[in-house]
Amino acid sequence: MTNNKWDDIKPGTKAVWAGEEKSFLEGAAQVPVVNSVSYTHDDVDEWLDVALGERKGHIYSRNTNPTVDVFEEKMRVLEDAEAATSFSTGMAAISGIMFALLSPGQRVVSVKDTYGGTSVVFMEHLPRFNINVTMCETHDQDAIEAEALKGCDLLYLETPTNPTMKVLDLQRLIAAGKKVGAIVVVDNTFATPINQNPLALGADLVVHSATKFIGGHSDALGGIVCGSKDLIDKLYSFREINGATLDAHSAYLLLRGLKTLKLRIDQQNSNALALATYLEAHPKVEQVFYPGLENDPGYNIAKEQMRGFSGMLSFSLKGGFEKVREFLPQIRFAHRAAHLGGVETIIGPPRTTSHVELSEADRQKLGIPESLIRCSVGIEDIGDIIADFDQALESI
Ligand SMILES: *Cc1c(COP(=O)(O)O)cnc(C)c1O
Repeated sequence: MTNNKWDDIKPGTKAVWAGEEKSFLEGAAQVPVVNSVSYTHDDVDEWLDVALGERKGHIYSRNTNPTVDVFEEKMRVLEDAEAATSFSTGMAAISGIMFALLSPGQRVVSVKDTYGGTSVVFMEHLPRFNINVTMCETHDQDAIEAEALKGCDLLYLETPTNPTMKVLDLQRLIAAGKKVGAIVVVDNTFATPINQNPLALGADLVVHSATKFIGGHSDALGGIVCGSKDLIDKLYSFREINGATLDAHSAYLLLRGLKTLKLRIDQQNSNALALATYLEAHPKVEQVFYPGLENDPGYNIAKEQMRGFSGMLSFSLKGGFEKVREFLPQIRFAHRAAHLGGVETIIGPPRTTSHVELSEADRQKLGIPESLIRCSVGIEDIGDIIADFDQALESI
């Protein structure tokens, strides 16, 4: 729509070429890592034009940087947005959205299962500025819609959610937010632009922790927000002063990772579906949470709004946390870590990672079994991963 010249181009091609169609410094075919803090201007008038934004160019790397520009352009094209701006981390992007766009007295509606850091912003920081936040039950679309329709300034959605892979009905909830004039934000980290494009469903802003699937190699932190030029300009002005700027070297690593985004996500979608199907049939597994399984409560909506069901799944073991303690060390091909979205399989129990600070009762309220294991399925050959899980389950 907004990217006319990219209209008929498929995501795999966009991931490789967007922002990189022309050559760079001295004819370099690959993006240079521009580590320079500032940019010299021999002509004072030209300098003034750049400073006033009337001419393309750079002044100071906290504001803009040539390597970072290419990363923003590639993500803008992948999300089919008018504009994009980056941040040092996903949390810098998410808190940047809140602090740049909200004012005291305003109201936010969201869900209980947002990313842990996001819920801390909702519960501890926004209230300090007299911004009221209502966090609805994530599975209850009627309740979320009703809360939004009561009136709110920002509707913050995330789907699929961490760690139990609940799926929000984006079309329906976005429509509710728009009806009351709210800015609708969607955290698309778990889905990636390969599987889901919330802007196409009417959202105003889409945000990613680029640290996860976007970079894909677990070696760079970053955040990105895509949306209308109007809103992105506001976020950029805030970030320029707040200072949570993406570093050029990280931007380079994220760009390098992005080139294989389509390949990685296709493989992770199919690996996760195969692993979920295997786990679902295993007698020692209590429950599998994956929207790609036909009996999953999110299946029908996911099928509507996603092109793939993502590389994230979680499952609980029969026998409680004791079994998790036995199972985890037996796995050969997975990092046991609080991370996701890398080329390698990564596993971790929410009880010791994302939800470690909650009591057992609170986890229960969120529907998080004590024996839950979250799994970010990598790009490995799936036969090896299933065999590995099989021997680990056998041993417990
Ligand atoms: C990791 C994550 C974030 C935060 O990103 P950082 O880059 O770690 O700051 C936000 N949302 C989701 C869904 C995430 O998984």
